[in-house]
Amino acid sequence: MRNIEHIYINGQFVIPHGTEMADLVNPTSGQLTGQVRLGDVEDTRRAIAAARAAFPAFSRTTTAERGAYLQKLHDAVAARADDAARALVEEYGGPLNTSVGRSRYTARMFLDVKKVMEDHAFVKTVGVSKVVLEPVGVVGIITPWNSSAWFIANKVATAIAAGCTVVVKPSELSAVQNQILTECFHAAGLPPGVVNIVNGRGDVVGAEISAHPGIDKISFTGSTLVGKTIARAAVDTMKRVTLELGGKSANVLLDDADFAKAIPAAIQACFMNNGQACIAGTRLLVPAHRLEQVKRLAKEAAEAFTVGDPREAGVALGPIVTSKQYERVQHYIRIGIEEGAELLTGGPGKPQGLEAGYFVKPTVFANVTPSMTIAREEIFGPVLSILTYETEDEAVAIANDTPYGLQAYVSSTDLARANRVAGRLIAGRVHINGIHDDLIAPFGGFKQSGIGREFGPYGLDAYLEPKVILGQAAQYPD
Ligand code: NAD
Repeated sequence: MRNIEHIYINGQFVIPHGTEMADLVNPTSGQLTGQVRLGDVEDTRRAIAAARAAFPAFSRTTTAERGAYLQKLHDAVAARADDAARALVEEYGGPLNTSVGRSRYTARMFLDVKKVMEDHAFVKTVGVSKVVLEPVGVVGIITPWNSSAWFIANKVATAIAAGCTVVVKPSELSAVQNQILTECFHAAGLPPGVVNIVNGRGDVVGAEISAHPGIDKISFTGSTLVGKTIARAAVDTMKRVTLELGGKSANVLLDDADFAKAIPAAIQACFMNNGQACIAGTRLLVPAHRLEQVKRLAKEAAEAFTVGDPREAGVALGPIVTSKQYERVQHYIRIGIEEGAELLTGGPGKPQGLEAGYFVKPTVFANVTPSMTIAREEIFGPVLSILTYETEDEAVAIANDTPYGLQAYVSSTDLARANRVAGRLIAGRVHINGIHDDLIAPFGGFKQSGIGREFGPYGLDAYLEPKVILGQAAQYPD
């Protein structure tokens, strides 16, 4: 049993004033592995006070000084990458290979952000005036469990690059990963108060961060529902908000696509991170006249996806994070059947031999119509819906018929055609022929998938406020 007792305020690991304990459960075994002690409103206020006190000096540091901190953060996080990967596997069932890759990338993020900061123009001339980009202030960072360390690292790195100080409220479901990352932040030797981390419940610590006048900006990643609550609370003090929210991304297979490659890639795009990815391509749109071929290939590809203990090499799909999320996914699978979708593979219940943990059968539905619940709502599990279209225009209309707009995918052997369709899709990112990585280009959503962008120069700008100094000629105008 592992008990996580401390939170991190003003450069010190401290026992929180809050006394509530939350259980830590391994989703692969369903067994209790420990507990985490949660902070309360008083802890949150202390963390905000520490960040406020640290802000004046930190906001005046040079980019060279902040670059040195980002380098130290990289080194500290890289040194613990294996521990972090193990925590990912243990805590939310991330398959081993992807967990190792993600943990290494979490470390590299600090260097990517350092480079972006070094290339950024913090002072420019616009019109006849000097424009200075100043740090926005104290940032409240609230993150989900589904890639916890990675989200925290990106947001903290960017805040530091801008000269901001932060209070982080990680998901209560990722306490082990948070603990490792906090130890790395401590090892990097940041000035006290620059980074503060308060474990706690969303409706307690998260709500206090969202409303407290000492917070100038919120950077939130999580569900659209919670994002709206945060934005409402934040507006009273006019906090800046960056919201990275949910998705129901369309994957459009044009009729000239290479189906033998595109369909396994579509299964991968839907089942990534055990189906728990905001960017998952959960709606596969295919030409009606190719449906039978698609069904055969999709069933084959989904059944080739090995479900099992995420510690085992070769396992591509681990468990769902909690029993509650497992039940939620089961509910959607049952609704899909009840509303008349054709179950191609998978379905309700756990895969044979994996009854102890929160495992879901990789599930694919065909003959899904745009109005069905499984085509509209974010499921957050390995459940793919296949819909058909007759024309390219209809494909675009179905793809855009959603309140979300985070990502989209298009496959075609004709790049010009794929680009044309990509241009018509309402989404923050559109991937052509597969899934691509670019963590410098902006990331974020249209519509109810969020507000603002992260990564690269656009992400850095979101932590900066432009201040204009006029009168550069130092003469009174006539
Ligand atoms: P969630 O919205 O339930 O929780 C996210 C965070 O918000 C947690 O730390 C939680 O404690 C906190 N929170 C909950 N209630 C709060 C409140 N009233 N005030 C302030 N904070 C509160 O999301 P989750 O279940 O942890 O993660 C899954 C969701 O996140 C999915 O909807 C997914 O699409 C989304 N997500 C989006 C992105 C993106 O970049 N767009 C990335 C990953 C996940």
